[in-house]
Amino acid sequence: MTPLVRRLFLPFLAALAACQTVPYTKRSHLVLVSEGEETALGESAYGDALAKATLSNDAEATALVRRVGQRIAAVADKPGFKWEFNLIDDPKTVNAWCLPGGKVAVYSGILPITQDENGLAVVMGHEIAHALARHGSERMSQGLLAQLGGAALGAAMASKPEATQQLAQQAYGAGATVGVLLPFSRAQESEADRIGLILIAKAGYEPGAAVDFWGRMSKAAGGGGGPEFLRTHPADDKRIADIQSRLPEARGYLPK
Ligand SMILES: [Zn+2]
Repeated sequence: MTPLVRRLFLPFLAALAACQTVPYTKRSHLVLVSEGEETALGESAYGDALAKATLSNDAEATALVRRVGQRIAAVADKPGFKWEFNLIDDPKTVNAWCLPGGKVAVYSGILPITQDENGLAVVMGHEIAHALARHGSERMSQGLLAQLGGAALGAAMASKPEATQQLAQQAYGAGATVGVLLPFSRAQESEADRIGLILIAKAGYEPGAAVDFWGRMSKAAGGGGGPEFLRTHPADDKRIADIQSRLPEARGYLPK
């Protein structure tokens, strides 16, 4: 980028990025897709994913997933979300995710590690935090920025805002359907841990359950390639120490 281009476009991009702020952490980030568009894309990707999956017929476990989900949704302050919580019958898959707009899937393979309602709340709170913080759209927007370069993107937004937004949506749509499980960055993971703890505390769950859950996850990593969830969520000592250090903040949100 030449100095002139830098001088012309970086303030513009900075202004654009400053338009979006992550709840609780107040971090500014670049998101080129509107929340409405994101919700629509999440909904269609969710339909695709469920069509390929088998829903659990374990009524008790499904009810637990929905109860935890509803409790977190009730405090998430996202009236625009179309919340949905499903348990997928797949004992070999240790995983869970939340698509934009509040579309949550939990795989039965993770239940032996979550163990109880608090453990399940830790996982669902973390995944819902990714959606609240709009990490998927942030990743796509960063990808677009890397692809076009900051100057080109700045110029495109200035001259053709609608066309550029469409491009962002296409990039996002492709990612949302094939890339539900693309790993988030470590910074996003750490942010989702922090927000997830706050969410579960607001919902009345003890956030300290996260330390126990990640300890069990770390043990489950033991042999072989490790479960799916671990490939995108390393359960190392640093993560657990970071979570420990965030507990006082989260406990401030526990209902009085
Ligand atoms: Zn995560």
